Amino acid sequence: MQQYFINEIIPQSSDKIEILDNDLYKHLIKVLRMKIGDECLLVDTHQHRVKAVLRNYEESLEFDLKELTDDIDTEFPIIPIIACALSKKDKLEWIAQKSTEMGVKKIIFFDSRFSVMKWDEKSINKKLSRLQEIVKNAAQQSHRKLIPEVLYVKSLKELIKSYEDIDYKLVAYEEVAKKGQASQLSQVFDKLDNNQSIMCLFGPEGGFDPTEIDLLVKHNYLKVGLGPRILRAETAPLYFLGVLSYKFDLALR
Ligand code: SAH
Repeated sequence: MQQYFINEIIPQSSDKIEILDNDLYKHLIKVLRMKIGDECLLVDTHQHRVKAVLRNYEESLEFDLKELTDDIDTEFPIIPIIACALSKKDKLEWIAQKSTEMGVKKIIFFDSRFSVMKWDEKSINKKLSRLQEIVKNAAQQSHRKLIPEVLYVKSLKELIKSYEDIDYKLVAYEEVAKKGQASQLSQVFDKLDNNQSIMCLFGPEGGFDPTEIDLLVKHNYLKVGLGPRILRAETAPLYFLGVLSYKFDLALR
């Protein structure tokens, strides 16, 4: 069943809701040709998900609501954040879409020394809103309960300063992987408690400059390997989210 995010709060005391959202109206009624009696899932900003049956769409969307008795939590119990160096537009869109499917809660793009693309100051907001739209659609598709946030910081220094408070700060560095220290990552996972945040940085195609790694280490970032194979810049964050999912969704804790 298709799911949609809404800005209205699903009422606790009523089994009906009216939704004033022109874009959603157009999508459901004009594009999907939804009819009275058709069902979908609605999720509000408090991560409350219900089954909704369309009852009227003359002026706005009106739904009858039914609580889900067997709703599962599709969110990680921890807060996974990825920070990826800028690369070509289609790669960034791919990272945004796939990492959303994999459960990321925040996606940060940053400019690094070997990034092949730079973002022009004037176009940042436009680029971010396009990525945010991709993320919203992916989150609906994969039945997430929240929409991950997409952010941009213009340098590694700014990133370090803005995200000091994250519980576990890592940088994926293939040179560590080559030295067989891949288990650093699983040691961190063992320490991670529910509701704690973990952020991993990923370099561009050309990798990180060693001076960037030194700067990160100086600010208490832990270098981690992601196995013995060198992954593409867009594959590495998915590997990270995949192993997190193994640990926090699949393996017995
Ligand atoms: N510098 C390399 C590859 C860069 S891969 C080269 O040009 O040959 C792009 C990014 O993915 C790296 O900066 C790193 O953050 C991450 N990455 C890829 N494979 C990795 C591995 N096995 N372990 C840790 N990080 C990896």
